[in-house]
Amino acid sequence: MEYDFDVLVIGAGVVGLAVGKELAEASYTTGLLEKNSRYGLETSSRNSEVLHSGIHYPSGSLKAILCVEGNRAIYDICKRFNLIYRKTGKITIAVEEGEINKLEELYKTGIANGVEDIKILDASDVKKMVPDVICKAALYTGTTGIINAHNLMDFLYHRFIDAGGMAGFKEKVVRIKRDDKGYTVFTEDIQKYSTKALINCAGLFADKITGMLGINYHLYWAKGDYFSVNRSIPVGILVYPVPGKTSLGIHLIPKIGGGLRIGPDIEYIEKKEQAYPDEKSAGYYKVDETKAELFYNEVSRYLPVVKKDDLSPEMYGIRTKLQGPEDGFKDFVIKEEIPGFINLIGIESPGLTSSIAIGRYVAKMIKDNII
Ligand SMILES: Cc1cc2nc3c(=O)[nH]c(=O)nc-3n(C[C@H](O)[C@H](O)[C@H](O)COP(=O)(O)OP(=O)(O)OC[C@H]3O[C@@H](n4cnc5c(N)ncnc54)[C@H](O)[C@@H]3O)c2cc1C
Repeated sequence: MEYDFDVLVIGAGVVGLAVGKELAEASYTTGLLEKNSRYGLETSSRNSEVLHSGIHYPSGSLKAILCVEGNRAIYDICKRFNLIYRKTGKITIAVEEGEINKLEELYKTGIANGVEDIKILDASDVKKMVPDVICKAALYTGTTGIINAHNLMDFLYHRFIDAGGMAGFKEKVVRIKRDDKGYTVFTEDIQKYSTKALINCAGLFADKITGMLGINYHLYWAKGDYFSVNRSIPVGILVYPVPGKTSLGIHLIPKIGGGLRIGPDIEYIEKKEQAYPDEKSAGYYKVDETKAELFYNEVSRYLPVVKKDDLSPEMYGIRTKLQGPEDGFKDFVIKEEIPGFINLIGIESPGLTSSIAIGRYVAKMIKDNII
């Protein structure tokens, strides 16, 4: 059987769903191919579920622009369609005096990026806000919050379908052929899809998709483990240490349904053909329980009431990074690599926050330049 589309999206994580929804709503005949039996079973459901404000990314970068726009867009959708969210706010804390200048840098970047409701707090302000957290100073961002990623993806998927989009599950893309009409995409069970435009939203495997068209990228995988805190500690706001070079640091996340989660750490790992467990196999990776000590040491620096026995392994997620362990900042890549092929690669954090804005950005590229 052969299907014909204006646009075909590969990958039904939050980004592919947001892109698909925008295109279907713009009346393109849109298809979405996903290798798993459902949407959102990979990184989009294994992350901190934080709506970032946009303080972490250099001004003018796609990460900065799409994060700030995406943050506003998701709150707007959550309010209009009654999706689950909590605008908790966040404090980024200087645990040592020497980290205070980092807060000032983040403040300046935030202002330059158009982040609203942002201010520096002293230790006594923080004490009033979260009595159990100790620090020298903090940067408060009122637009940071938490959502339920599954809830957002359910919304995006149903909007996509309601707008006439067609989704194919258990459809792993294995080969792509380019011709003068566009692209023919082949899946593992020998389905064939022809399309004028093709969009790569394959997350951790996005470099494999570009490889099928002879375009080379190297993606690193960097695993992050999470532990949950099995005791009631009243922290109602997100608490982050100052960020490291390749990650935002092990932070405290008040979970949407109650309780606290801590994580993620960062560990560059060897890539395998499967990132997460599925119905057929337990996969290759799991939370490293021996890291409880590391997590405890890190978090007890600023939350001394936590005890090592309070921590239980919870889950892991894998970042898809263009940035190697020794590299500096790398932006999202969202570009038309060859006519009609839009590539989204390195969509790590703040990819969840940016998802709606990415969907709009890609739909505009299609409308302005392609079809
Ligand atoms: C530990 C961690 C914490 C994070 N925390 C946050 C946060 O708090 N806030 C935030 O904004 N962002 C966060 N992120 C980033 C965010 O989770 C990602 O940017 C986002 O989920 C990426 O979505 P995606 O749709 O691109 O990828 P994915 O969710 O990985 O979706 C890609 C889809 O493509 C499918 N696919 C792959 N290959 C093929 C193929 N050959 N054929 C068909 N389908 C294929 C996969 O099965 C998958 O469903 C975090 C990430 C990690 C790892």
